[in-house]
Amino acid sequence: MTAAEARAAMTAPGLIRTVLGDVPPEPWGITNAHAHLVGGADTSKPPFDTTDAAELIMTIEDSLPELEEFARAGGFCLVDLTPMGMGRDPDALVRASRETGVHIVAGAGIYHEAHHPEAIAGLDEDRIAGMIVREITEGMDGSGVRAGIIGEQGTFTGPMTEREKTVFRASALAALETGAAVTTHTHLGRNALDQIDVLTSQGLPPDQIVIGHLDDGEPDLDLIREIIARGAWAQFDDIGYEYYTERLEIQMTTDVVRARKLARLAEEGLCDQVILASDFGMQRHLRARGGPGLVVLADGFRKTALAEGVPVEILDRCMIDNPATVLTMK
Ligand SMILES: [Zn+2]
Repeated sequence: MTAAEARAAMTAPGLIRTVLGDVPPEPWGITNAHAHLVGGADTSKPPFDTTDAAELIMTIEDSLPELEEFARAGGFCLVDLTPMGMGRDPDALVRASRETGVHIVAGAGIYHEAHHPEAIAGLDEDRIAGMIVREITEGMDGSGVRAGIIGEQGTFTGPMTEREKTVFRASALAALETGAAVTTHTHLGRNALDQIDVLTSQGLPPDQIVIGHLDDGEPDLDLIREIIARGAWAQFDDIGYEYYTERLEIQMTTDVVRARKLARLAEEGLCDQVILASDFGMQRHLRARGGPGLVVLADGFRKTALAEGVPVEILDRCMIDNPATVLTMK
């Protein structure tokens, strides 16, 4: 067996690696490219706060009805990006996919430095890359359930730290070895271009890079244009969320504003590199608690965007075709 054959046996070139196995990217359907069906952040570390503890725990019992509703509205796939050490539960993702019929792709993620897991302490980029590769080829947390994307790889409010750069370089190496894409958490869009620079410095093609969280506040179209010009994907991550966040001290933007920005990008012919997602994962997001729910991407936001003049083909491209392209392993 050649090295290329050995790699192909462990990965899935041309296929999407879900928690239930590898599937072809066609036919594909509405995909939420960023959510957390199960998780619980360490609330002793920023930006979380111990007062957030109950708010930040998401259980499979909370999220299953939401996923069912997403499926009924046409939801086809969900990408679960709960990072290592933040309450990730691969077996629960398997159960959720079986019970709802929604394809679930799991992320091999390492959040920003305050939340770097013990397991990477002191490891250099090659060893961290090896850990990420094993999550994709063997399984996560000893479960045998394999990740299909790398992320959400995080940075925080300040400049990228040296350790974060190490993790990003490791992620690029793992992406090159497995063919999986890297998806990121920029924290209000900050460090977006630095993230691309560090990932591409290892030779990772920019079309394997998704830059996330570009719509927490009002989307910065100049930044989005620059990300797209560099060949990476620009992702809106907060579809449905319009609240004031005490933790981040920002008023999130609105879906109407997101839709108008999307319409502008569509006019400029840039939506071939835009992805829409709804970073579900807190109690306030639940329909049962008055939130917009997981369904918002497939239902409410589509209506808002159509009313704001976004063509349906653009919505389908950003919710179906583009995520399918990103999730298809190289
Ligand atoms: Zn997230």
